[in-house]
Amino acid sequence: MAADGAPRFELIVGLHDVAERPDARGDELSSWVPFSEAEPVLDALVARCRQTGVRLRITSDDGFRSDYERLTPWLLDRGLTGTFFVPSRFIDRSGRLSASDLRELVSLGMDIGVHGARHVNWATMPAAEFAEDVREGRAALEQIIGRAVDMVALPFGGFNARVLDHLVAEGFSEIHTSRSGLALSAVALKPRNMIKPGNVEAVLALGHRRGGWSDAARCRLRRLATGLKSRIARS
Ligand SMILES: [Zn+2]
Repeated sequence: MAADGAPRFELIVGLHDVAERPDARGDELSSWVPFSEAEPVLDALVARCRQTGVRLRITSDDGFRSDYERLTPWLLDRGLTGTFFVPSRFIDRSGRLSASDLRELVSLGMDIGVHGARHVNWATMPAAEFAEDVREGRAALEQIIGRAVDMVALPFGGFNARVLDHLVAEGFSEIHTSRSGLALSAVALKPRNMIKPGNVEAVLALGHRRGGWSDAARCRLRRLATGLKSRIARS
């Protein structure tokens, strides 16, 4: 809650590879936006959120090297921090962040979040395999950066009640989806707006929203609906 008692809204955006010459390969290229195109969008969102009072949060997925080389300098220039969701088995691969990059990001005030170990869709996996992918991804990051990691982003945005229940039980404080909309600071399940080809105008339009009862209802209803499905599944 904000000081005046109104819900505190966040506009969370997500990026992937932003290198001018992509390190992304195959299907990953559908999310590639070179930083020369992403930067004006990010700058416009900074300006819009300054007007609306909504907190802008920048995230990036999949541990591309451009997180460190392009996005981080931009964040530091503007006094912002970002959250980087890194699949642990991608670390130290060509075109990806290294273990020492991760430690440096943390030393610069950035947050690191879990994105699994193998980068697989948790919603379509057997329960034990999914739980192991989360455990391995988290343990590897915590070992590298030497601190607890309590934010998670869903690979491919895939989730269901079972996935959410497990992540909540594992103590994650924030669960980032790939569904559009404003987020509420007080609600752990975070809508996230991916800046990728075909979605840029929609994200920019969201930058004008101040957040109101309908945005809050969307966040709360989604949580309620998920909880309900989960209880039905258990009964
Ligand atoms: Zn991903």
